[in-house]
Amino acid sequence: MLSIGRSGELRKRLSSHPFLKQRRYARRVHEDRLTRKSILRLAGLAAASLGAGSWQARIAQGGGPAAVESGAVSCVLTPELTEGPYYIANEKLRRNITDGHPGTPLVLQLAVVNASTCKPIRGATVDIWHADAAGNYSGFGAGNASRTFMRGIQKTDASGIATFRTIYPGWYQGRTVHVHVKVHVRGRVVHTGQLFFSDALTDRVYRNAPYNKRPSRTTRNANDLIFVNGGRKSILSLRRRTAGGYLGKITMGVHRS
Ligand code: FE
Repeated sequence: MLSIGRSGELRKRLSSHPFLKQRRYARRVHEDRLTRKSILRLAGLAAASLGAGSWQARIAQGGGPAAVESGAVSCVLTPELTEGPYYIANEKLRRNITDGHPGTPLVLQLAVVNASTCKPIRGATVDIWHADAAGNYSGFGAGNASRTFMRGIQKTDASGIATFRTIYPGWYQGRTVHVHVKVHVRGRVVHTGQLFFSDALTDRVYRNAPYNKRPSRTTRNANDLIFVNGGRKSILSLRRRTAGGYLGKITMGVHRS
């Protein structure tokens, strides 16, 4: 007969069996997926309630292989640019990614379209990360105390647009000002890139606090080793917002598979 102690040991041994471990893992993944699905659905509703501007409508209508063939629309495949060393996977699903860090407000509307058809891709997951005004990344170096500031994920709405609220990024040694971006469709990474800013605008923004408390930046677009490899096609179109700060837009053409 097995003593209680021994049956406990037997249970432990059984529960560490690879087959059971695999089943537990599968169940966890399934549960994670369900939670994620409901969060994403909520996020979609929130995005829809923002309303559709003319730019969104233009993207939504502009698609279709026929339109591409006729030359009525042309979608540029967004250049793949290095992910760099500061990516953290599975960040928070949220629109405001600042965690209260100071800086010039920046709203980003990032549209994802199928580069073959120009049609917007709804439900794509867009993941962004960038340095704060002091030039630090959360989770690294001087930003090590937090793993979340200036990082977040949003789902694209029916017009293919993911919206973020952040601040104008600060600079760090050896790089021009940029925002990193990753696009996932159905769990697969379909694009890894970087988004850039006009140097003239950065000069203007950096004349103000908190950016002006730091020395002048070392690198501009023209002498950035990543920007020179196709970065020109990833420059954000920026305009001033009446509410303060800037609105940055870009359309990213991606291959779905
Ligand atoms: Fe970077």
